[in-house]
Amino acid sequence: MKKSLYINGEWIETATYSPLYAPYSKEQIAEIPIASDEIIHEAIAHVQQANVKMEALTSLERAEILFQIAQLFKEHREQAAEIISLESAKPLKFALAEIDRTIETYQFAGEEAKRLVGEIIPMDAAKTGKNRFGYTIEQPLGTIAAITPFNFPQNLVAHKIGPAIATGNTVILKPASQTPLSAFFLAQLIDQTALPKGAFQVITGGGKQIGDLLVKHEKIKMITFTGSPAVGIGIRDKAGMKHVALELGSNAGLIIDEQVDLDYVATKCVTGAFSNQGQVCISLQRIYVKDTIYEQFTELFIEKTKALVLGDPLSAQTDVSAMIHANEQQRASAWVAEAVDHGAQLLLGGKEIDGVFPPTILANVDRHSKISCEEVFAPIVIINKITSIADGIESINDSKFGLQAGIFTKDIQTAFTAAKKLDVGGVMINDIPTYRVDQMPYGGVKLSGTGKEGLKYAIKEMTETKLIVWNNE
Ligand code: NAD
Repeated sequence: MKKSLYINGEWIETATYSPLYAPYSKEQIAEIPIASDEIIHEAIAHVQQANVKMEALTSLERAEILFQIAQLFKEHREQAAEIISLESAKPLKFALAEIDRTIETYQFAGEEAKRLVGEIIPMDAAKTGKNRFGYTIEQPLGTIAAITPFNFPQNLVAHKIGPAIATGNTVILKPASQTPLSAFFLAQLIDQTALPKGAFQVITGGGKQIGDLLVKHEKIKMITFTGSPAVGIGIRDKAGMKHVALELGSNAGLIIDEQVDLDYVATKCVTGAFSNQGQVCISLQRIYVKDTIYEQFTELFIEKTKALVLGDPLSAQTDVSAMIHANEQQRASAWVAEAVDHGAQLLLGGKEIDGVFPPTILANVDRHSKISCEEVFAPIVIINKITSIADGIESINDSKFGLQAGIFTKDIQTAFTAAKKLDVGGVMINDIPTYRVDQMPYGGVKLSGTGKEGLKYAIKEMTETKLIVWNNE
C-alpha cells in the first residue's frame, strides 16, 4: 500500500505520505510519498552521475533498452492496464489500448535511437567557405524533467521517457498526483532493463513544489510538460533559457459536410467525444454540421451515444466511468447549466448518474459559453448548425486553442481549403480531431502549446545541434 520513490535505482521512503483514492470506487488504494526538497536535490545529484553512464552507451544499446521496455509492457499488458483503470477510472478497454500504444511508442523510440543523424554542410557554397568541411552532430542536453498529466499515465510518459533515452539524456519523472501508480510500475519495469541506474527516476509529491524546484534548477536542461495551459504557461515564465516543450489543452472542433456517410461519422464522433470521459486533449468538443443534414446527424449521434455502457472502469463492458475527481463532475454540471442559461438546448445527459457524469450533448451553444470557448475536459460535446464550410472553419478558428481539427467531406476542394485554413497543429480529413498515432508530429498552436511530440519530433527538442568545421587549407 505504501509506495516508494525511485531514485538512483533504489526505492526510497519519505517522511510524509498522502492517500490516493480511486475515482470510481472512492476507496483508498495507496499511500503516495511526498518528496522533500532535500530528496529532490539528491535525485538531481544522482542523475548527474548517470549522465556520464548514458554518454557511454552506443545508440544500439539505447535502442535495445527501449525495445526491452516495450517487451516488458507486452508481458505485463493486463497488469499495466488495470493500474491505469484503478487510479484514473479509464475504462479497461481504453486502458488496454493505451498499453498497446505505449508498446509502440517505446518501439518507435528504439528505432529512432538508431537514426540520430546530423548533416553535412556545404561550406564552400559561401565565398569564404572554400576548403572547409562542415558537419553537425546531435548531442543530448543532459537531464530532462518530465512533468505529465493524469489522462494517459503510460503513453504520454512514454512520449517523454522514450525520446529522452533514445537521445542519451537522463530523466526525472514527476507524474500527475492522481496517477503515480503507473509511474512506479514503469520504474519497476525499467529497473529490469540495462538502463544505467539513476538515468531514470520517479519523484512524487506536490505539483507546484516539485515543479518549481525542477523548473528553476540549473542542472535541469529541459522541461517537457504535458498538462493544462495555466500550469504550462507558468513553467515557461520560470524556465529561463532551458528548452521547454509544452503540450497543452484544446477544445477540438469538427466540420461535417453534406453527402458523407452519417452513420460512420456519428460512430466516430461518439468515440471522439466520450472516450476516457472526454478527458483527452484532442477530445471532440465542438461539432459544426451543415444545416441540411443537421437533424439526421443529431438523431443518429444521440441514438449511438445512448448505447454507451456506464459504470465500473475495471469491467470489460464499460465505455464511460467516473471523471478523475468529484469536483470535476461538479464543474462539468455547472458548465452545462451556464450554457443552458445562455440559450443552449440540452439534448442528452447533463446530470450525474450513480457517481458517473454521463455523455452529454448540447445544441445551439453560444460561442461565449465556457463549454464552447474553454477546454471542457469532460464527456460533453456541442453540436451547432453551419450554413457553409467557411462558417465552420471560422467557428473552429474562433478559439484561443489550436491542437487538432477534423472535417468530413466528399469534396476535394473543400478538404484542401480546410487543411490550409484551419489554425491548428494537425488537420484530419475524413476523421475526428481525436485521431492520433504515436510517430506522427503532434503539438498545437496558440494556447495549445509549443514544440512537437512524436518520437522523431520530440528528439529534435531533446538534442542540441553541434556544428564542427574543419579547415583544410
Ligand atoms: P495539470 O496541469 O493539472 O497537471 C499536469 C502536471 O503538472 C501534473 O504532474 C501536476 O502535478 C503538475 N503541476 C501542477 N502544478 C504545477 C506547477 N506549478 N509547476 C509544475 N508542475 C505542476 O493537468 P492535468 O489535469 O493532469 O491534465 C489535463 C490537462 O492536460 C488538460 O488541459 C489536457 O488538455 C492537457 N493534456 C494535453 C496533452 C497534449 O498532448 N497536448 C495531452 C494530454 C493532456
